[in-house]
Amino acid sequence: MASIDNSEWSKSMLLIAGPCALETREQIKTCARALKEVGVRTMRASLWKPRTKPGWEGLGESGLEILLDETLPIGLTPATEVLTPEHARLVVRALRSRGDLARILVWLGSRNQNHFDQREIAQILADGHQGITLMAKNQMWAEEKHWLGIHAHLLESGFPKERLLLCHRGFAPGNEPNPRRLRNLPDFQMAESVRAKTGCRMIVDPSHIGGSRETVLEIIEESLQRSVDGLMVEVHCNPDMALTDAKQQLSLDQFAELVLRVEKVRVCA
Ligand code: PEP
Ligand code: MN
Repeated sequence: MASIDNSEWSKSMLLIAGPCALETREQIKTCARALKEVGVRTMRASLWKPRTKPGWEGLGESGLEILLDETLPIGLTPATEVLTPEHARLVVRALRSRGDLARILVWLGSRNQNHFDQREIAQILADGHQGITLMAKNQMWAEEKHWLGIHAHLLESGFPKERLLLCHRGFAPGNEPNPRRLRNLPDFQMAESVRAKTGCRMIVDPSHIGGSRETVLEIIEESLQRSVDGLMVEVHCNPDMALTDAKQQLSLDQFAELVLRVEKVRVCA
């Protein structure tokens, strides 16, 4: 493992933490309160889960009110993935019903690479509510041109650049050498180049890069040696029992230790 530069840890950063998926109200309530206690300000939980093989696909629309109920009143910003324009409309409607001060971070996942949909989603979100931040993850394959293209499409849709965020979650390994058996291979140089060329904040998702608790912790350390603006980390109150991505989710205690090392936890917008 690379050596740790502690000075990196003292900088302020956007920290998004929370379970891979929203499973029950009880689960999300426990997680939200624990994360809030350690100083996290943005909590992730997916409602619509794209799956490699058929399986549980999340609570969908019925989880949206639960997510907003268990975060906004205690001062947390919720974060979730949308896959279709219809999902984006549901998010906008739910957020509007909570008033002008409500906020949410919405992200486009790496598998969602239909740019007609990406642009429509971005447009719906841009016009929908000013408390929406949009984050785009990199696509599955390692190509800078495509990654820059996602950013360009989102701006083209009229989404304001100050509410836009990028996220590096690694690239599908394919036949590349992968001695550490990472779930996805990071390319920090490419992430830095995209950050520089777009002028957009870039955070790292160590969970979907690492794929196991041990490698997630390593990737967090490695990310912090780089120019990154934040991290999105999967954290579960009972990781072994998680319905999705059980192997890679950190426990609340593991995550709490990490947060203590960050001087200032920022909000997304
Ligand atoms: C996720 O963050 O839950 C997710 C599905 O990630 P990705 O799009 O990076 O696979
Ligand atoms: Mn996940």
